[in-house]
Amino acid sequence: MSDKKIENNTKVPKTRNFVHELVEKDLMEGRNDKRVHTRFPPEPNGYLHIGHAKAICIDFGTAEKFGGKCNLRFDDTNPSKEETEYVDSIKEDIKWLGFDWEDRIYFSSDFFDKLSDFAVKLIKEKKAYVDEQSAELISKQKGSPTRPGTDSPFRNRPVEESLDLFARMKAGEFENGAMVLRAKIDMTSPNMHLRDPLMYRIMHAEHHRTGNKWCIYPMYDYAHGQCDYFEGITHSLCTLEFEVHRPLYDWFANELADTEYRPRQIEFSRLNLTYTMMSKRNLLALVEEGLVSGWDDPRMPTLSGMRRRGFTAQSIKNLVEKVGVTKTKGMTDFALLEHAVREDLNKKAQRLMGVLNPLKVIVTNFPEDKVEMVSAVNNHEDESAGRREVPFTHELYIEKEDFMEDAPKKYFRLSVGREVRFKYAYFLTCTNVIKDENGEIIELHCTYDPETKGGNSPDGRKVKGTIHWVSATENVEAEVRLYDRLFNFEDPANEKDKDFREMLNPDSLKVLPKCYIEPFVTQMKVLDHFQLERMGYFNIDKDTTANKIVVNRTLSLRDNWAKKMGK
Ligand code: ATP
Ligand code: MG
Repeated sequence: MSDKKIENNTKVPKTRNFVHELVEKDLMEGRNDKRVHTRFPPEPNGYLHIGHAKAICIDFGTAEKFGGKCNLRFDDTNPSKEETEYVDSIKEDIKWLGFDWEDRIYFSSDFFDKLSDFAVKLIKEKKAYVDEQSAELISKQKGSPTRPGTDSPFRNRPVEESLDLFARMKAGEFENGAMVLRAKIDMTSPNMHLRDPLMYRIMHAEHHRTGNKWCIYPMYDYAHGQCDYFEGITHSLCTLEFEVHRPLYDWFANELADTEYRPRQIEFSRLNLTYTMMSKRNLLALVEEGLVSGWDDPRMPTLSGMRRRGFTAQSIKNLVEKVGVTKTKGMTDFALLEHAVREDLNKKAQRLMGVLNPLKVIVTNFPEDKVEMVSAVNNHEDESAGRREVPFTHELYIEKEDFMEDAPKKYFRLSVGREVRFKYAYFLTCTNVIKDENGEIIELHCTYDPETKGGNSPDGRKVKGTIHWVSATENVEAEVRLYDRLFNFEDPANEKDKDFREMLNPDSLKVLPKCYIEPFVTQMKVLDHFQLERMGYFNIDKDTTANKIVVNRTLSLRDNWAKKMGK
């Protein structure tokens, strides 16, 4: 099967994996009328992160591979933490990744009536009961993996009593925690999840969609599988921690089903990235405590943060593809994600010249009022991108680090008496260094050789160094934000005795208020990518106003992953 291009031109990888093999087997056996129908089920209690991107690629990608469908389902069974803002951001992020749920958007709350009816059915069949014990007692009676649980004294209460109490729970007669509805399965099962799991709890809280209609809410294990069933899902793909929930998933499905159709749960391992935390609880704390600027802070592992920073949807999909779909728990090197981003941007990014730490250069033999346009390559990787004109003038800026006063022989950049190529322009020789009263270098004087236009010498003279530059008079001033990893620890989630706040990298954001970029940058819109030659990949930040351009450095050019791999 060929890679199919979708919506925003990103591709869904098609490599086979164990999930595909299991789906193929089901198709061969004619299961569920040979349908393939998956779902992505986020809880709208935070923004999506890069781990979710893996699940999205697997859910939508598997459906697409087999010509099936994938639903978007918001698992909104906990009104205390869920909000419409999250729903909107989740939709935006999935679209950005290039996936389309078409008209198949669902909310678990759409099924609250059906779920409640099904609960009544289970009570009537003596497979569920209302338990009036406290949460504490119930949890005590659960036993342990090696010790069986004990029956609740309410376990065998008459059906009518449970029916009456459940109706009154629903009607709002009781306080939070006064009682719960439990499935009646097996208090001695070696699988703790089958020891009469909770189905409903009382929660007097306003829900972002159903308002105050409900004061009982279904538990995840109960709601999730049944929603799969109601939506006709055939393959419920989820992460490994749900593996132990599968017998319960199947139990509920068997109780509900009146045909051969059954959804099937398949688990894969989560994506974990070094120097990153994916817990939504911690990400929320970072946002609420102002430790980052918001969910879309470019240092966040959220999709909105990565998008803002300049990571592309295609590179995130490529990472998921590189990592693969397995049941092996592991940690992915952040450098591999960076490698995927560079690989993608290298092909696409417009090249520009810009100076981050400016040092002024006066070209003493170049006329003061002259602006000469020199021709520059837009993208060395893509000839069709063409060329552009860059203004060369009497005063220029170069990068401070491209000059050294007492340079060793092997230093190939600018130094007094040495000649280097100013990219696309001319050969320049440094003649003089101007310092302030503290001995700080404030300006360089250089001469240019008019015979070397375009950066080539007619007499075959060679220069070792080529540096980038920007006109000091014909440029755009920009604030540039440089990013580093958000956490100083390789696996912050594993540092059990540390608060995650202590593990934050204090140098994760560095702001350079006055940088200079060639005028072409004014043609760029928010989120547009470009490479500043030698300095990295950048994009325009949404904080840009009519008076100020704000630029994010997506990544520097140095590829640590390729280096590690010896490439
Ligand atoms: P919570 O702690 O709030 O449950 P969650 O990360 O599980 O957080 P959900 O909104 O429930 O968030 O996740 C939606 C889907 O994304 C689930 O199917 C979940 O298995 C999957 N998912 C979440 N984190 C990862 C991850 N790191 N790698 C792969 N899939 C993930
Ligand atoms: Mg979850």
